[in-house]
Amino acid sequence: MTPPQGPVDSSTVPRFAGPATFARIPRLDEVGRAGITVLGIPFDSGVSYRPGARFGPSRIREASRLLRPFNPALDVAPFEVVQVADAGDVPVNPFDIRSALDTIEAAALAMTSEGQNLVTIGGDHTVTLPLLRSAARRHGPVALVHFDAHLDTWDTYFGADYTHGTPFRRAVEEGLLDTEALCHVGTRGPLYGKKDLEDDRRFGFGIVTAADVYRNGVDHVAQQLRERVAGRPVYLSIDIDVLDPAFAPGTGTPEAGGLSSRELLEILRGLNGLDIVGGDVVEVAPAYDHAEITSIAAAHVAYDLVSLIALTRGRAAGPDRETREVP
Ligand code: MN
Ligand code: MN
Repeated sequence: MTPPQGPVDSSTVPRFAGPATFARIPRLDEVGRAGITVLGIPFDSGVSYRPGARFGPSRIREASRLLRPFNPALDVAPFEVVQVADAGDVPVNPFDIRSALDTIEAAALAMTSEGQNLVTIGGDHTVTLPLLRSAARRHGPVALVHFDAHLDTWDTYFGADYTHGTPFRRAVEEGLLDTEALCHVGTRGPLYGKKDLEDDRRFGFGIVTAADVYRNGVDHVAQQLRERVAGRPVYLSIDIDVLDPAFAPGTGTPEAGGLSSRELLEILRGLNGLDIVGGDVVEVAPAYDHAEITSIAAAHVAYDLVSLIALTRGRAAGPDRETREVP
């Protein structure tokens, strides 16, 4: 077994030089095969307010140059546990949403056909629907922990079914989600009406509001989430607007009163031990960002997602994994 090929060595190539891949890991075509693939989805044709998330993947990669190979918070060197590679961006149709969704689903299916895991960087939240289609094809209906200021279970906008505010209603309708194990985290801000919450509850979602996070604390919230989704394949979807605009100004639909990046990262780390099969970080819209605040937060979130999945794969491979091939 050849050991995984890691990131570029920063002691010989400075961080502001070298490849523009996520965390300076190798490209997928350089290694042939990866256990975890990082994939960009530069799509924002589903947004309802500020556009620009199509430039999220490149800015998150740029902000990820400073990530280092060992993650002390999770006690893992993710790029050593498993081959992690960057597959670049999916060439999505910016004018035809249905076509874009099909392209994303096909790409996700192809990249997970042999049991690999996918961490995607968006892109607006519309992209999570085809990613869930792909995940459900492989695992059956998945549990979902959804970090977001918004519910994203609305029905239509201007008659359109596929938007960044509707992916989780569509996913429930399509049977992609395990409706016993769904939760939003970080929800806040005004709604259209009380019916939004009634519909959401009917689909099976629990809600941990942003206020619940600061009242109850991150450990309590992580424990609540673990109890809700334990023992099932879990998908993590992270809309960067779950963070307060102070921590993520560069996003499409900002809402006051959100989580800090520290709270989000700590809740994520508290999910270690679950069977995490995939995840996404979406809604980074760099044109509204300042000093890379949002893309730095998103890069760290994606790094922790990769770390969590590396730990999941390490556990699945068993205690004698040193002698087994971990693709
Ligand atoms: Mn949102
Ligand atoms: Mn969202």
